Amino acid sequence: MSTAACDVLVIGGGLVGAAVAWGVARAGATVCVLDEGDDAIRASRGNFGLVWVQGKGDGMPDYAAWTRDSAGRWLELAAIIGEQDGIDVALRQPGGLEPCISEAEWVERELQVRRMHNQPGVGGNDVRMISAAEARELEPALGPEVVGASYCPHDGHVNPLFLLRGLHAGLARHGVDHRLDHWVESVRPDGDGFAVRTAHGTLRAGRVVLAAGLGNVRLGPLVGLDVPTEAERGHILVTERLDPVLSHPMGRLRQTEEGTVMIGASADRVGLDTSLDLATAAALAARARRVVPALGRARLVRSWAALRIMSPDGFPIYAESENHPGAFVVTCHSGVTLAAVHALYLAPSMLQPGFNDRYAAFHPRRFGGAEAA
Ligand SMILES: Cc1cc2nc3c(=O)[nH]c(=O)nc-3n(C[C@H](O)[C@H](O)[C@H](O)COP(=O)(O)OP(=O)(O)OC[C@H]3O[C@@H](n4cnc5c(N)ncnc54)[C@H](O)[C@@H]3O)c2cc1C
Repeated sequence: MSTAACDVLVIGGGLVGAAVAWGVARAGATVCVLDEGDDAIRASRGNFGLVWVQGKGDGMPDYAAWTRDSAGRWLELAAIIGEQDGIDVALRQPGGLEPCISEAEWVERELQVRRMHNQPGVGGNDVRMISAAEARELEPALGPEVVGASYCPHDGHVNPLFLLRGLHAGLARHGVDHRLDHWVESVRPDGDGFAVRTAHGTLRAGRVVLAAGLGNVRLGPLVGLDVPTEAERGHILVTERLDPVLSHPMGRLRQTEEGTVMIGASADRVGLDTSLDLATAAALAARARRVVPALGRARLVRSWAALRIMSPDGFPIYAESENHPGAFVVTCHSGVTLAAVHALYLAPSMLQPGFNDRYAAFHPRRFGGAEAA
């Protein structure tokens, strides 16, 4: 049997894999991260950057609580990255708004807020509906079409690219063997660990974490894990740098530290297609103008589409393989928001027994499929 190359091998170096690797390395494990080349499909380089609590966990109280925990631990994560790696991830948590521009939107939002208040445990995460007047007091740039908003004091935003860079810097500081251009062909149980094959050779590890985003669908069954996720395309538009116009992030609008306003994000299912659909982009821009009329004068300078990693119910999937203990899957569609709990809680818990009990609510058995052989 070959010698173990590391205690934990993480497949995927996006926000999820990097946060997990960061957390297990910080807990003292020797870690290797294998990631694809630059042409890879990566949600982590195309997302909106919200640390978002409101609306998360409608139908799953554990996820509502988990999201709230993460928002609460974000300051700690940002401080560690700032102090130890010198990277300011631009975390701001002033609370967030989700404006409604019709009575129908208001009614739908209010229903969701009420539903989530009635879920056990987290008391609706302090989300409340606010009047148009109160919304405009918080955010004077809102236009006359805004009839009200939902508001959550725990919402915020970060620069997600600086977050990724900060996590990668932490990996380097902890001596993590982080290999780019190492696409994993196969994972195989091997003695008391796993053998992971790439075009550059085979590595051996005591534990393996599938954090390969949409790549987990193929890798999961190799270690007895069913990972039923699909791609969901989202468009984002970016304006030129503007004078301060927004002081709170919104579900579909946020002004960055640099002054650009990000407008997003649509949602459609078109497989692995990341091309930009102009009609979708135009609809996003039109709505943004209705919410904040001042944006009607702004020039758009960038736009792109990227793929979310969606489970059937939209909630995260965390599991350790029953057939091949030591193999884990970690995937979610809110990897920015959840970076704090992934790095600070979930990752170290992989080194302890009882992972599936701790994260029972997030196990893919909730989808009813049998565990892959
Ligand atoms: C438009 C859009 C907006 C979003 N907005 C937000 C937001 O505001 N807030 C929020 O919290 N989340 C948001 N998200 C979601 C967030 O970006 C993702 O949850 C997160 O980036 C997922 O990270 P990941 O590491 O799982 O996946 P990815 O970033 O896709 O990374 C997976 C990595 O695995 C690698 N890989 C795949 N297969 C293999 C293999 N076989 N071998 C080696 N490497 C492999 C890939 O190359 C990639 O680098 C958004 C996503 C999109 C698309």
